[in-house]
Parts: sequence; C-alpha cells; structure tokens
Amino acid sequence: MSEVGRIAVVGGGVVGLSVAWWLAAAGYPTTLVDPRPKRGASWVAGGMLAPVTESWPGEEDALELGRASLDQWPEFAARLTRAGGDPGLRHEGTLALAMDSADVGTLAMLADHLRDRGREVHRLSGRELRGLEPTLGSSVRSGLHVPGDLAVDNRALLTALHAACVRSGVEFVTVSADTVHPGGVELTDKSTVECAVVVIAAGAWSGALHPALHGLVRPVKGEILRLRTRRGALPVPTRTIRAHVESRPIYLVPRVDGELVLGATQQDVGFDEDVTAGAVRDLLRDAERVLPGIAEYALTETAAGLRAGSPDNLPLIGELEPGVLVASGHHRNGLLLAPITAAAVLSLVREEELPERLRAACPSRFGVEVPT
Ligand SMILES: Cc1cc2nc3c(=O)[nH]c(=O)nc-3n(C[C@H](O)[C@H](O)[C@H](O)COP(=O)(O)OP(=O)(O)OC[C@H]3O[C@@H](n4cnc5c(N)ncnc54)[C@H](O)[C@@H]3O)c2cc1C
Repeated sequence: MSEVGRIAVVGGGVVGLSVAWWLAAAGYPTTLVDPRPKRGASWVAGGMLAPVTESWPGEEDALELGRASLDQWPEFAARLTRAGGDPGLRHEGTLALAMDSADVGTLAMLADHLRDRGREVHRLSGRELRGLEPTLGSSVRSGLHVPGDLAVDNRALLTALHAACVRSGVEFVTVSADTVHPGGVELTDKSTVECAVVVIAAGAWSGALHPALHGLVRPVKGEILRLRTRRGALPVPTRTIRAHVESRPIYLVPRVDGELVLGATQQDVGFDEDVTAGAVRDLLRDAERVLPGIAEYALTETAAGLRAGSPDNLPLIGELEPGVLVASGHHRNGLLLAPITAAAVLSLVREEELPERLRAACPSRFGVEVPT
C-alpha cells in the first residue's frame, strides 16, 4: 500500500460512498464529509445498470466505460452483500419498445449499432413482447430484448454502502464542505478536515468546491415517480421497460416488492428540485400507453434529483492537482459507474496506471492541468 495519510471523500451519494468503502476496505484511513449522506441524485435514481440501452452511435466511450463497469457489478454486489447488505441486483434485462413507425426505425438502428459492437440484442414483435410481459399495452408495436442489462434497488444500495463504510471504519463528518485544497477540506462551520488526499464526489454540487471544476459540472434535473401495485391491480413487470412516447423517453424499473419506478424528465434548469405538476402528468400519461394497468397502482412518491452533467456527458475521474482527485459528472449513469469509479480512485491513490478506457474520463480533456 502506498504511504498516504488520511483520505477525505466529499459527498456521500453512491459515488462517494462506493469510493470511501473501497478505500477503507483497502486499508486507507478515510473520512466522508456530507451533511446528508445517502441522498442526492442517488436516492432518487431509477436503478438501471444499462449501458447498452443508454448507448447511441457517437457515444462509444460511454458505452465501453459502462460495459466495463457493468461487468464488475455482480462481483461488486456480492462483496457488498457480505460487507454491508444486499443491494437488490436484478438480472432480467431490458425491453426497449417501439410505439410508432418512427420508433421501429430508431430501434432497428440501435440494434445494428449494438450488434456491430458485439452486444447481445433480440428484435421481438409486439406479440412476442406481450408473451414476455403480459401487462404491456396493445399499442406496443415491436421492440428489443437486451438481456445483458442489470438493475439495482438504489435505496437498498445506499443503505448497504453506508453500512459497509461504517463497518470498514469510515469516519463520517456531517457538515458541508465549503472548498477543498491539497491537504484539507474547509467546512462551512469554519473547521478543517486535514488529509493527505481529497476526493471530490459531491455530484451536481462538485463545481463549487474547486476552481478547476467551475463551469464543468452542472445540475441536470430529473423527475421520477414511484408507484406500487395494489390488491386487484396487475403485477409490475419483471424486466426494465423503456419506450419513447411522442418523442418523450420513459422507463419503468420494477422492484421485487411490487414497487415500480417511473422516470424520468431531463432539464437544464439549474439547482431546481421541485417536482412540477406537468412532469407528473406527462410521465403518468406516457406510462399508461405502455402499461395500461398502471392507472390502478398507488402513486406513492414524486421526487426530483440533480444529475451531475459534464460538457461531453462522460464522468470526470482523475487528478485535478496533487492531493486533489475528482469523481463526479456521472450524469445518467452514476449507479452503473460506481464500481469502476471506486476501483479507479483506489488505483489513483496507489499511483497505479489507469486502464486505457478510463482515459476518456480524465479531467485533462477539458484543459485541466493534470500533472504527469
Ligand atoms: C431521475 C434520475 C434517475 C436516474 N436514474 C439512474 C439510473 O437508472 N441508473 C444510473 O446509473 N444512474 C441514474 N441516475 C443518475 C445517478 O443518480 C447519478 O449519476 C448518481 O446518483 C451520482 O451519484 P453521486 O454520488 O455522484 O451524486 P449524488 O448522489 O447527487 O450525491 C452527492 C452527495 O454530495 C453531497 N454534497 C453536496 N454538496 C456537498 C458539500 N458542499 N459538502 C459535502 N457534501 C456535499 C450531497 O449531500 C449528496 O449526498 C439518475 C438520476 C436521476 C436524477
């Protein structure tokens, strides 16, 4: 183990908790700074681990990074189950649905793109899709089955990561960070957490913590609904369902206990966490086209979260200056990318070379001065 002293991780969403757990489990004394750990966008997220159906031509780096992290998920989840609790990993895959002729063409393109990259994907008729998921509506025309996608219960994941951190000896400081610099984290109560290395993992709020991140990380609002099947209502599907309804993307991610997460809007509107009536209306109306039985479900929660966007939608994982690392900008894929991010930060702390595919996430691509 390299001789570094204490490591401070700023931010206790899925990224910060994964990084802190990984570092502490590797033997580094670790402090996690967050006034409200286990919340942030991670608390709101859908739970898809879906690099394939999130991928489009031109986004090859994101697909490859996502695939590499997806491959690490089963081992990450198994280790987490032993260390902190079961994150509820699901293996049933995704159905991407076409609702009109434009969608049929778009999905055909996506299927070709994915096959060209060696991914498993099956084209299915509306009838075949309803054979797999009998509660799908009659307006579903055709679609793709992507068996390799996984899903996770984001809240079970956060609980398990938090427990794993506690058991590995991570120290929690529940005060906001004001700024970070080599050697320490300045807190809003005017105290300082002294450390040898700081990892900025504060999601959409990371931009305010270090000058190199100003203007690079921005909030991207997403609204989401949680529903629950009731006695007499149809069961929730077993697979993640994705569709475009009148060009609006929606997804439905089932949980084992009869909950269904319905998302999500995507807007660049700054630090706004209100759920609007229009978003609830659109999401429910679009979901009913896909899954008519949803009208009988109980609507249990509406929520908004702030994804951390970067200019090219790839994360920022790397060194900003000696002693200051960043692990942020995970945008729509922070849950998916948690294992690869935690492993990358551990490698950076150990001063090991990162795998080639992580070069695409290096902050130097935006002209941030990275020491060689
Ligand atoms: C509606 C929606 C659906 C999504 N669905 C998916 C999905 O299905 N799959 C997927 O992979 N990703 C999904 N995402 C994206 C995913 O949620 C994020 O990429 C991920 O949660 C980012 O994790 P994070 O730890 O970087 O940030 P967050 O989870 O936002 O955590 C940031 C943490 O930093 C803390 N913090 C902020 N400022 C400070 C400060 N000054 N000092 C100390 N702490 C601070 C906050 O309290 C918070 O706990 C979704 C996002 C949204 C909004």
